[in-house]
Amino acid sequence: MKTWFKVSENSDFTIYNIPFGIFSTPTSKKKVGIAIGDAVLDLSVVYDLGLFKQLSFSKTIFESDFLNDFISLGKSITKKVRTIIQDELCNENSVLKSSKEAFVLQKDVEMHLPVKVGDYTDFYSSIEHATNVGVMFRDPENALLPNWKHIPVGYHGRASSIMVSGKNIHRPKGQVLKLNETLPVFEPSARVDFELEMGFIIGKQTEVGDSISTEKAEDYIFGKVLFNDWSARDIQKWEYVPLGPFLAKNFASSISPWVVTLEALEPFRIAGPEQTPKVLPYLEYNGLKNFDINLEVSISPNNSEETVVSNSNFKYMYWNMSQQLAHHTSNGCNVNVGDLLASGTISGKSKDSYGSMLELSWAGKNPIKLNNGEERKFIEDYDTVIIRGYCKKDDIRVGFGEVKAQILPSK
Ligand code: CA
Repeated sequence: MKTWFKVSENSDFTIYNIPFGIFSTPTSKKKVGIAIGDAVLDLSVVYDLGLFKQLSFSKTIFESDFLNDFISLGKSITKKVRTIIQDELCNENSVLKSSKEAFVLQKDVEMHLPVKVGDYTDFYSSIEHATNVGVMFRDPENALLPNWKHIPVGYHGRASSIMVSGKNIHRPKGQVLKLNETLPVFEPSARVDFELEMGFIIGKQTEVGDSISTEKAEDYIFGKVLFNDWSARDIQKWEYVPLGPFLAKNFASSISPWVVTLEALEPFRIAGPEQTPKVLPYLEYNGLKNFDINLEVSISPNNSEETVVSNSNFKYMYWNMSQQLAHHTSNGCNVNVGDLLASGTISGKSKDSYGSMLELSWAGKNPIKLNNGEERKFIEDYDTVIIRGYCKKDDIRVGFGEVKAQILPSK
């Protein structure tokens, strides 16, 4: 594909991508757009030009505060919208070429939460991450609990505190039990951490009682985002027994504003790791269900340069999205359009590919050196954490942009 629109070589938002998001300008309300190069294409303007005429849906779909209504049209429509835009951006005679109001520079818009998230679930599906945490907190000889290779372990998170990239976060306060103490204190967390994750957005609802097979699972997935599951390790350590994560996790999660469709990720399919022991029949799958997505985490101290602290990849996931969704619905739990299912921290095998400060600094024992000479065990006030992600194969590049947020002092 060759577009007439100017897209720089290293842009995440190539003609192969066409991710959907919600934007506003200083003079407009929220609208649906797609990202191309360093611009946003306003789909309400494209609608007015009559380019979606054959699809018979109303313009209000593109004047919405969230993508949920658009996604609810179903893949048969949303895939066509995407290919119509690709065709127009490649067609030298497209009406878009002379429509100046259709394009706005990304630097001139504000991006918003792309979907209204009804329910949010977080998995724990990277074997390297689960092993590292097991070694640190339990038994190096038996790092993985007996269920881990049989169940895509997860927990129900909190949708209310999911925010779009760029919204800053106050350091949470909570109960912590300090070393050599027997009673807890209530104070700002001293161990705020990021978790390098990706999330997928449900594109088709089910009814209570329905289950989704691994074979059909991708029909229910609209697209993917970058996700930072902010965590407070000291609060987590004290509160997590016996029911799992709670206030250490629900104070904030950050997501990237552009939703990259599964269709855009098609060229980057890759085989997942071998699963032994054999999984139960409802978790078996055929074909390539993992995706080769390069991931990177940077820390930028206040008014200082960035340091890349981790290079990981989504392909490392032990449990793939289809298995996660099949397991999630195996008991008849229903899903709705806009629900967000996150991967869990994505760590690779090498030390520089770990997806959290907990692992990178090995619970604070080995501080990370930053480019400005400072050291970090965990995230300090005014640090900005930036996660980026992209796929590349031959000449095809599809990226996610970034998700970033700064940690501010406690309120
Ligand atoms: Ca997590």
